[in-house]
Amino acid sequence: MEDPETVDREFNDEEEEDQDEDWGDWGADDNEEEESNPDFLCLFCDSKYSSCDALFEHCSSIHHFDFLSIRETLSLDFYGSFKLINFVRSRVAENRCWSCGLVCQSNQDLQTHLHETANFEEIKLHLDDDKYLNPFMQEDPLLYSFSQDEEGEDDDATALEKEEIIRDLREFGGICIDDGDIIDALASDFDTLNEDRREGASASNGYYGMENISEKEIGSCSGAKEHVGSFKRKPKDKHLRVSFANVVSKEIKNVNENYFGAYSSFGIHREMISDKVRMDAYRQAILNNPSLMKGATVLDVGCGTGILSLFAAQAGASRVIAVEASEKMASVATQVAKDNGLLWSASPNAGNNHYTGVIKVVQGMVEELDKSIESHSIDVLLSEWMGYCLLYESMLSSVLFARDHWLKPGGAILPDTATIFVAGFGKGGTSIPFWENVYGFNMSCVGKELVEDAAQTPIVDLVDSHDIVTDAAVLQTFDLVTMKPEEMDFTASIRLQPKLDRPADTNASMDLEQKPTWCHGVVLWFETSFTSRFCRETSTILSTSPFTPKTHWSQTILTFREPIAMAAGKPNAKKSGGVGSDACPASSIHLRISIIRAAQHRSIDISLETTGIACDGRKHSWPVQIFNLS
Ligand code: SAH
Repeated sequence: MEDPETVDREFNDEEEEDQDEDWGDWGADDNEEEESNPDFLCLFCDSKYSSCDALFEHCSSIHHFDFLSIRETLSLDFYGSFKLINFVRSRVAENRCWSCGLVCQSNQDLQTHLHETANFEEIKLHLDDDKYLNPFMQEDPLLYSFSQDEEGEDDDATALEKEEIIRDLREFGGICIDDGDIIDALASDFDTLNEDRREGASASNGYYGMENISEKEIGSCSGAKEHVGSFKRKPKDKHLRVSFANVVSKEIKNVNENYFGAYSSFGIHREMISDKVRMDAYRQAILNNPSLMKGATVLDVGCGTGILSLFAAQAGASRVIAVEASEKMASVATQVAKDNGLLWSASPNAGNNHYTGVIKVVQGMVEELDKSIESHSIDVLLSEWMGYCLLYESMLSSVLFARDHWLKPGGAILPDTATIFVAGFGKGGTSIPFWENVYGFNMSCVGKELVEDAAQTPIVDLVDSHDIVTDAAVLQTFDLVTMKPEEMDFTASIRLQPKLDRPADTNASMDLEQKPTWCHGVVLWFETSFTSRFCRETSTILSTSPFTPKTHWSQTILTFREPIAMAAGKPNAKKSGGVGSDACPASSIHLRISIIRAAQHRSIDISLETTGIACDGRKHSWPVQIFNLS
C-alpha cells in the first residue's frame, strides 16, 4: 500500500451496540477507580505516593523541584502546570535536567545533578509548546489530580459530560471507529483535562506519543492545521468541553478525508502497481493457488484500482467484493472491472468477454459495510494494507475488523503473517558521507545537522545491504489469523551482534583485538507472507529487506544520537573509554523498541532504548529516543 499523508485512525460508528456496552462500562470503571488509591509516580525516581501532596513534598525535598512554587513563579494556569509535568517527565526519560538541559549518563547521575530551578525564562518557552499537552506517560494520575482541590469537580457533571462527548462523537456520521480505543483516547484526554480520576496502569513501555499533536505532524496533513489552532485544550466549562470533542471529531473526519483523498490520486496507484516485488507476490499468491481461489467468495479490503480483485476474478473466484473508501477510486475500480468484463451485474449479458462478471465494488470504509455482506460469509480476505515500517497508517486495524465480521471460521487471509526485522547500519546509511565531499568541498556541517534531525524523525529511504553492520533480528511477528487489534502496539527486545563477514572478524574467538565497526543506528523493514497454511500450492514472501530488490516501502531508518563502536573481540586494555567507544567497543547492542499507534492519527511513535554490552559484561545505556513517523 502506498502511504499518503498523515491521518487518523479509523472510526467505526457501525457497532453501536458494542460501543454502547463499552461506554456503559465507563461509569462502572470510574466507580471502581474511585475506591482504589492511584499511585502517583515521582517525576524523577521510582517512588510512588498515594497523594499529590505527598509526591510534591518528596519532589521538593529530594529533587529540588518545588511544583507549587514553580507554578506560582511562572504564573502557570492549569494547562501550563499540566504541560510542566509532561515536560519534566519527558526530560527525565532522556536523563536530561529539566532545569538546565544538561544530559546525564544515567538516571542516577541525573538524580545527583538535580538542582534548584536555573532558568525560568527558558522553561516558560518550553511550556509554550503544545506538545506537552499530550500526556507523556500513557496513564498519569498526577495529571488529573494535581489541581483537584482547586477545581473541585462534581462527579455527576463529569459523567454527564462524558455522555455528551460520546453522543457528539457519534453524531459525526462517516467517522469510523475501529474499536473503542479512539473514543477511549479522546475521553481519556478529556478525563485528563477534567482532572477526572482513572486507573494509573502503565502502558507496556510507559510512554505515550510525545508528538501526537505536534504542529509538525498535523501540519503535514493539509486541512488539519487549521484545527490545531483551535486545538488548544482549554475547555473550562461543559459547553466548551463538548465543543472540544466536536473539534477533535471534525479533525479526525478531516484527516480521514485527507487520507482517502490522497488515494484518489493516480500517481500513488501507479507507483504501487509499478512495484514489481509487491505485484509479483500478490499475483503469485492469488493466481498460483487454485485450490484456494477457485469458486471462493473474496473480500478485497481497500481495492484501489481493483487490481487484486481482478487477479482474484482471473483466478476463478465466484464472487469478489471490492471495498474502497475513496469515492474516486471506487468509481475507477468499477469502470476497470466493467471494461474488462469482470463487473458483476444483475443482467447476465453485461460482460463483454469470456470472463463471468464476479466483481462487485462497494464504496465506503470497510468498517461501514453492514448489511451488504452476510456475516462470516467470506472465504478469502485479501488486502494490501502495509504502510512504511509496516504499521504506519494503521490500515491493519481495518483488515482485522473485516476478519472479525465477515471471514468464515477457518477462512483465509492473504497475506497471513507479517514480520518486522531490525539490523544496525554503518556510516554509509547516514547522510554524512554525501556531505563530506561535495565537489571537493567539505559540507559535513550539513550532514551533522541532518543526523541530529534523524535522531528524532525516522527516515524512510533505501539502505544499501553493504551498509548493514550487524546481524538482523526479528523484532515482531504478527499472525493475522489470530492477532488481536491491540497487539498492533508492542514492545520487543532484541540483541544485535556485529556482522562477522570480514576475515579478521572470524578471529574474534581468539580474543584478538578487533578494529571496531561503527553502528550509526538501526534500520527496520518488514516481510509479509502468503504461507502454505492457505497457499498450499505456492507460498510466497513479499520482502522489503535491504538484501532483496527494492520496493516503494524502502526501509525505515532510526539514527542513534551518537554512533556506537562494535567489535566481537576484547576491549583494548591500554585505552580507556565507556562501552561503545573506540577503546571499548560493544560486542552486542541490546535494543528495546516499542511501536505505538498514535491515538488520533495514522502516525506511529517508535521508542528506542539502546544498551551497549562489552564482552566483559560492562554495559552502557543511552537515553531513550522517541521517533514519530508521520
Ligand atoms: N488494493 C490496491 C490498493 C492498495 S492501497 C492495490 O493493491 O493496488 C490501500 C487502499 O485501501 C487505498 O485505496 C485506500 O483508499 C483504501 N482504504 C484504506 N483504508 C480503508 C478502509 N478502512 N476501508 C476501505 N478502503 C480503505
